[in-house]
Amino acid sequence: MFNSLSDRLTSTFKNLRGKGRLSESDINSTIRDIRLALIDADVATPVVREFTGRVRERALGAEVSQALNPGQQVVKIVNEELVGVLGGQTRELQMAKHPPTVIMLAGLQGSGKTTFAGKLARFLRDKGHFPVLVAADLQRPNAVTQLEVVAERAGVPCFAPEPGNVGGHDAATAEGTQSYGDPVWVARAGVGQAKVRQYDVVIVDTAGRLAVDENLMQQAADIRDAIQPDEVLFVIDAMIGQAAIETALAFQKGVDFTGVVLSKLDGDARGGAALSVASVTGRPIMFSSIGEQTKDIEVFHPDRMASRILDMGDVLTLIEQAEKAFDRDQAAAMARKFMDEEDFTFDDFLQQMAAIKKMGNLKALMGMMPGMSGMKEQLANLDEREFDRVEAMVRSMTPFERTHPKQINGSRRARIAGGSGVTVSEVNSLLERFGQAQKMMRQMRRGGGMPGMPGLPG
Ligand code: GDP
Repeated sequence: MFNSLSDRLTSTFKNLRGKGRLSESDINSTIRDIRLALIDADVATPVVREFTGRVRERALGAEVSQALNPGQQVVKIVNEELVGVLGGQTRELQMAKHPPTVIMLAGLQGSGKTTFAGKLARFLRDKGHFPVLVAADLQRPNAVTQLEVVAERAGVPCFAPEPGNVGGHDAATAEGTQSYGDPVWVARAGVGQAKVRQYDVVIVDTAGRLAVDENLMQQAADIRDAIQPDEVLFVIDAMIGQAAIETALAFQKGVDFTGVVLSKLDGDARGGAALSVASVTGRPIMFSSIGEQTKDIEVFHPDRMASRILDMGDVLTLIEQAEKAFDRDQAAAMARKFMDEEDFTFDDFLQQMAAIKKMGNLKALMGMMPGMSGMKEQLANLDEREFDRVEAMVRSMTPFERTHPKQINGSRRARIAGGSGVTVSEVNSLLERFGQAQKMMRQMRRGGGMPGMPGLPG
């Protein structure tokens, strides 16, 4: 799911890496790549147009950021727009003030409604609710039995057509007959039963057809009117590609729905449905269905899905934290230092340490960097106290020593070691590493390059 979209977007962003600033033509070619990637992922054309339009406008107008390099800035914009297209905030089920909460499922046949009914029941049961399933799909041969099986797996009861009969429906009458009668009546009776028996959530499975059809819509609308659901969830197969929009709009017009369930997200669907439906219907995606088992259900979080699509690990969190920790004035002063050919001093070093500390737990932070996952062992061995020792050494230096580290001779070293509770060889090692870092910075300056974020020497 989303793999190829992910790959395409990631490689697009790679092209921006290392660029000092983005020209209009850089932005245009990036937008073109994003557009093609979305179209190939089956995202609906109007959604693609609007999405790329907004990203382009924002990228062109983006304020020059000192915290982020241009590539990161574009990633940030694309991410924010993706979250928007996927519905913005996570939307949870609305539970009725006076139980039972009635949840109606609608969607085409084969979209995964019945399977989802079981998943949702189990999900709610695990949260301490007492759900019951109601089989109002009387169209499809076997639908009632299937729901009963699903209910059993989820460990919840199922109200099958015969009133008063909890889960004890006789499957022999199910095959292809209309003997169950009126689905509207069944749905209403099911909700009534739930009230009497004090179940607090009723999940009503309705019939679907292979294609959108007038009768089907009318039946769904009638059921809706009869049971007055708190939520109508439209279940859509994520693999149906471009047809997603048409189907979603037809159901919105026919029954209307309060939320969307994307099913079969575990498959190799290109993901277009996911990216189109929320934005075209204005209804949030609330769950994703990711397999055939009862446990294969996930609450849909637009922000997490967006970062999954962008495949940026937690780089986005990193971007956010960098922005938070970044002090503009300090950065400007640092930049001047490079320009003025002044040397990097231990005072600058202390400032950087403080900025890094503001970003939070160093190990966690490093773990979030892409490419760091293969370095788990080194990370585990990273001793954060080392940073405290370094800081103590720097703080034991006089202001003169901090700006003139080369002047720190043997007796000064011994004094610093004593003052900070470390050995002289630790002080020696710090000074040596610091000297190398200074040299590196001088070279960088000569080469004209400027690091986006001040790096940590050592
Ligand atoms: P309904 O006609 O809408 O009730 O659809 P069903 O629940 O009967 O599902 C149709 C088919 O899709 C069945 O074979 C299910 O096992 C399968 N299915 C449903 N949800 C998922 C899912 O999330 N992932 C996968 N891989 N298969 C699913």
